[in-house]
Amino acid sequence: MIKYPMVDLKGQYHKIKEEVDAAVLDVMESTAFINGPAVKSFQKNLEKYLNVKHVIPCGNGTDALQLALMSLDLKPGDEVITTSFTFIATAEVIALLKLTPVLVDVLPDTYNIDVKAVEKAITSKTKAIIPVHLFGQCANMEEITELAGKYNLYVIEDAAQAIGAEYTFKDGSVKKAGTIGDIGCTSFFPSKNLGGYGDGGAIFTNDDKLGEKLRILANHGMAVRYYHDYVGVNSRLDTIQAAILDIKLKHLDEYSAARQKAAGYYNKAFSVSDKITTPKTADFTTHVFHQYTMVLADDIDREGLQKHLADKGIASAIYYPVPLHMQKAYKDPRYNEGDFPVTEFLSKHVLSLPIHTEMTDEILEYITSSVLEYVEK
Ligand SMILES: *Cc1c(COP(=O)(O)O)cnc(C)c1O
Repeated sequence: MIKYPMVDLKGQYHKIKEEVDAAVLDVMESTAFINGPAVKSFQKNLEKYLNVKHVIPCGNGTDALQLALMSLDLKPGDEVITTSFTFIATAEVIALLKLTPVLVDVLPDTYNIDVKAVEKAITSKTKAIIPVHLFGQCANMEEITELAGKYNLYVIEDAAQAIGAEYTFKDGSVKKAGTIGDIGCTSFFPSKNLGGYGDGGAIFTNDDKLGEKLRILANHGMAVRYYHDYVGVNSRLDTIQAAILDIKLKHLDEYSAARQKAAGYYNKAFSVSDKITTPKTADFTTHVFHQYTMVLADDIDREGLQKHLADKGIASAIYYPVPLHMQKAYKDPRYNEGDFPVTEFLSKHVLSLPIHTEMTDEILEYITSSVLEYVEK
């Protein structure tokens, strides 16, 4: 029996239950299930929180990425560069739109996209880069946007795991994850840092033209009712989800702080062991720890450790066990095993531990001592 799950959505819900239940019941009474007032309210509040001109709510984070690519007038065969070490959605939407995903390796310390590898992968067909702010810290956006400027490329940030993270530029200015490139995308999947009680997602942009087009694309390509300017999709954020997210947004910074505190506890506890490499945060970003992901030494049996933890009621997970270029659906003669050594190393050595907003020192002490008991035996 798992007593300590990866996330504790129930504990979090119970702390805001009264407010959430009332908001959900309000939507039921109003019957404004689609595009009700809570959707606009959440959109405005998120725009303010992120300091971004346009938030376009949509059905989920994968739709957000797909809509972002659809808004850029790309042609089949155009190349989009992203990382080999991410959740499948990032590459899936590229492939679905008949664009060509071009994969590059990640950095061993932050697990984020290697900008030098991005530059090497650029060809005359390259049109966009999708950096993923993996596990909750920003990729090197200053270098990425410089590169994009030099080669005239779009930048779409996959901020599904990093909402609330802050990027500090060399000149001292600060921006939120997802508001730095041309378009940012996020997910409100329940386990994400800002999670709804069902699916949800959003797109961010400071560009008025892209903002308008994204809104139209998400609504069947329709600006005026029953007049369709583009081939669009139907992708909406439910009013009920928006009402819940509007409440949770007020707690997001305190949720991030709770995750950071838990990560700090893990880092400190594991610093005694040379069998564990704790996650590094790059100096230009904060880390909101969507996941706490460590790297185990070669001689640690990862499966054995997972079993040891499970026997003690502790969940653990591998994000991600199979790199994109090794996935059956994405097999491509351009890529072979060994092409992305850092990604491949990480996929074999990473382990993620429970991290959420409801962790106590007692839970953290129990988990860390259980991990150390195994790796130091
Ligand atoms: C969760 C996630 C997505 C997709 O979000 P959904 O809302 O589940 O569609 C995309 N990219 C990354 C990196 C994610 O973690």
